[in-house]
Amino acid sequence: MTLSQRRAHETDRRLRLLVGLVVVLATAVVGGALHLAVTSPFPTSATDGATVVMLAFLIAVGTRVTIRIRIRSTNQSISWNETAIIVGAAIAPGPWVVLCTAVGIAIAFHRLPRIKLAFGVGKNVLVALGAVTTLTALDWRWPPEQAFDMVAPLAVAYLVAAVIDDVLAIPAIALASGNKIPRQFRTNLDLRLAGFAARFVVAVCTLLILRADPRLLLAVPPLVLSLHLAYSARVRARTEQQTWQRLARTTDALNVVDLDRVLTTAVVQAAELFSADEVEIALPTVDRTVRGTNASITYDGPHDDTAATTGTVVPIALEGHDGTDDVGALRLGFHGPVRLSEREQYTLRTFASALCTAVRNAQAYAELARVSEEHAHAASHDALTGLANRRHLLEQGTRQLSTRHADGVTALVLIDLNHFKEVNDTLGHTAGDRVLAQVADRLRHAARPDDLVARLGGDEFAVLLRGLPAPAVAAHRAERLLGALDEPVDVDGMRISVEASGGIAVPGPDGGMPELLRRADVAMYQAKRSGQRLCTYATTSDTADLARLTLGGELPRAVADQEFTVNFQPIVDLATGEAIGAEALARWHHPTHGMIDPMRFLEAVERSGLLPAFADAILDQALLAVTAWREAGFDLPVAVNVSPRSLLDPQFPRSVLTRLRAHDLPPDRLILELTETLTLSQLDVVDQVLGRLRDAGIQLALDDFGTGYSSLSLLSRVPVHELKIDRSFVTAMDTSAEAAAVIRSTLDLGRSLDLTVVAEGVENEPQRRALWELGCTAGQGHLFARPMSSSALLATFRRGSGGRPGSLAPPLHDSGAVIRLPGGRRQPGRARPDRHPHLPA
Ligand code: C2E
Ligand code: CA
Ligand code: CA
Repeated sequence: MTLSQRRAHETDRRLRLLVGLVVVLATAVVGGALHLAVTSPFPTSATDGATVVMLAFLIAVGTRVTIRIRIRSTNQSISWNETAIIVGAAIAPGPWVVLCTAVGIAIAFHRLPRIKLAFGVGKNVLVALGAVTTLTALDWRWPPEQAFDMVAPLAVAYLVAAVIDDVLAIPAIALASGNKIPRQFRTNLDLRLAGFAARFVVAVCTLLILRADPRLLLAVPPLVLSLHLAYSARVRARTEQQTWQRLARTTDALNVVDLDRVLTTAVVQAAELFSADEVEIALPTVDRTVRGTNASITYDGPHDDTAATTGTVVPIALEGHDGTDDVGALRLGFHGPVRLSEREQYTLRTFASALCTAVRNAQAYAELARVSEEHAHAASHDALTGLANRRHLLEQGTRQLSTRHADGVTALVLIDLNHFKEVNDTLGHTAGDRVLAQVADRLRHAARPDDLVARLGGDEFAVLLRGLPAPAVAAHRAERLLGALDEPVDVDGMRISVEASGGIAVPGPDGGMPELLRRADVAMYQAKRSGQRLCTYATTSDTADLARLTLGGELPRAVADQEFTVNFQPIVDLATGEAIGAEALARWHHPTHGMIDPMRFLEAVERSGLLPAFADAILDQALLAVTAWREAGFDLPVAVNVSPRSLLDPQFPRSVLTRLRAHDLPPDRLILELTETLTLSQLDVVDQVLGRLRDAGIQLALDDFGTGYSSLSLLSRVPVHELKIDRSFVTAMDTSAEAAAVIRSTLDLGRSLDLTVVAEGVENEPQRRALWELGCTAGQGHLFARPMSSSALLATFRRGSGGRPGSLAPPLHDSGAVIRLPGGRRQPGRARPDRHPHLPA
């Protein structure tokens, strides 16, 4: 049982107690009156009999002529029965008055529920008893000698009757309607007093007329009627005025933009205004229901139509004046049966209309606030990832840089994903978007609370590091950010390894944000170019004059005018120093910018759609070079780098084989270097392309081995002939145990899979020796030769090293080196064995 239910239960009990008490008392009084009436001689004549009948009739009529005031589901009626009782008490013997009252009220109330009937009869019997005993006590005689002698005793008797009436009726009304008793006493006190006075005057007048000439009684009904009308008009006007005032106050209170306040106010005020026991406002469109009483809100939550009210429910739609725009419904609940008067219905319609407007206004305001907030967010954030956008980064960065007292150092890390376009092109934009969203998440988590992570567009991200203790910390933080991308991301069950390059910069002398962004960009491209994961901006390597973006537009011309050329870098046998092949490295011979490195234009080429033409041009030049060397007696294969995207082109194998045939070269003179960044190896088309190339006899090498993350899984699907250890490991092998470990395990892998392993970026003799001692047979790097033109390389071959044509470096120490070959070492398979007669077969 809830508190309110318990309270209702308690009220009920008290009400029944009160009614019971009244009924018991009244029954005793009626019993006594019956006894006295039977033993006393009245009525003795027909006139007396007529008086009694008349009296009962008057009381019945007086009771029926009422002014009704509804308080909640209880109707309070102010009636004329007291007047009739007083008149009766003045002219008839007491017992008969009591009996007439009982009979008259019973007749008037015979239609009411039994409890109301019993209470009405009982209460009026007690009122009659009060009037009668008062008059008896005051030694009342009818008719009085002096007309005005009767006013005083009548006044006292009337007062007693009225007090008994109120003392019994008001608590009953208060209990039945749930109001507080003292409050009920005060309600309309002035009107009630006026009513008392009027009824008293009517009673006195009636008696004066009776005393003078009973025939004049005919004048009483018009008098009573006019009084009644005046009084009820007054009551109605008063109630109406009060209602309008309250309605005006309520609609004023509803005039707020906060929906919560509108609803709470409306519920409490409606309960008050319509004397409802419970009020409910249901807004199904926003899935919300608010319910409450005039004192408090009892429910506020999702739409629910299990309203607890049993009794009468008066519903009204909350709609605009034109009936459109249905917002919801307002429901007034009453515990008992209630019919709203016309005036109340009109008030209710007005209230509902005001509430509808208030709700709509509040909703519109909330929507407006939401939209403007959303706009503010959208203007500064990236829709896909929810990260800040370029504009927001620039704003925040500018603000950060302009606060002179900013704690610590500010730095910017620019992060650009490599090979992202492949993902987009092959798996579709949805998958691409998902990769970007996951990258954003990773960066967000790896960043510190002070950092601002932004997406600048495409696959470019930036992190503004704030409050660094020292500039050097930036690199450490940037490492951590990039490290967050080490694990492949999962898209539809496909593991896609995301590789990224990062550039770090601290503000320049001008201290501006655009300059900071530009410096980070330069550093990032430097990282890409040099094959490092991360670079810090250095003024010395800043060649910003070459705007990489303008290069994109020049590509078609570059292809058409054959501005792309190829340099060749020899690959040598580490032990003997002899060339066993050469790698073709593309160059852009730009008319104004001069020689441009591939890292600066490759991405543009890949994005441009000119890739097939570019790849053909490079392949042609590489095969031309092979032919030239071959004719000069240096039959070496050429290694050509293949863009991952070429492998998605089913036409690619045919185009390669056609070119080999055109140059009349056996397929094993061509090695295709694949970058293992190729997460797309999961795609069937890549498998097919690689399978056809391999079946045709073309050799496959896995480039930059060790930098990717899916090396082993890739190897299991793509059967290659060769692994190329990335330069970064070779560079770091003498300082980093980890780098050395990668090299060692790559060599182990090569041995167990029977693959040639080529070390890239061999720059000095110690590296060469260390690699050889680890079991690496082949190498490539500045120690042997820098990339050069085909003819320059041919000249180098011819010249040879130490009088040995075809070699680029002296052998390692002595020929004993050959004997010290560790077990399992394989011969580099690319040079013809007969060209190296001094090596064991
Ligand atoms: P890569 O395949 O790893 O090529 C090796 C890069 O290392 C070349 O840079 C080369 O000049 C450089 N290098 C060689 N030895 C040394 C050394 O001892 N020390 C140092 N510091 N660097 C050395 P390059 O020519 O700038 O090429 C960069 C990358 O561009 C290549 O990396 C390759 O991935 C790509 N690339 C070059 N040509 C082509 C091409 O024709 N097609 C495609 N798809 N990619 C190409
Ligand atoms: Ca390569
Ligand atoms: Ca490489």
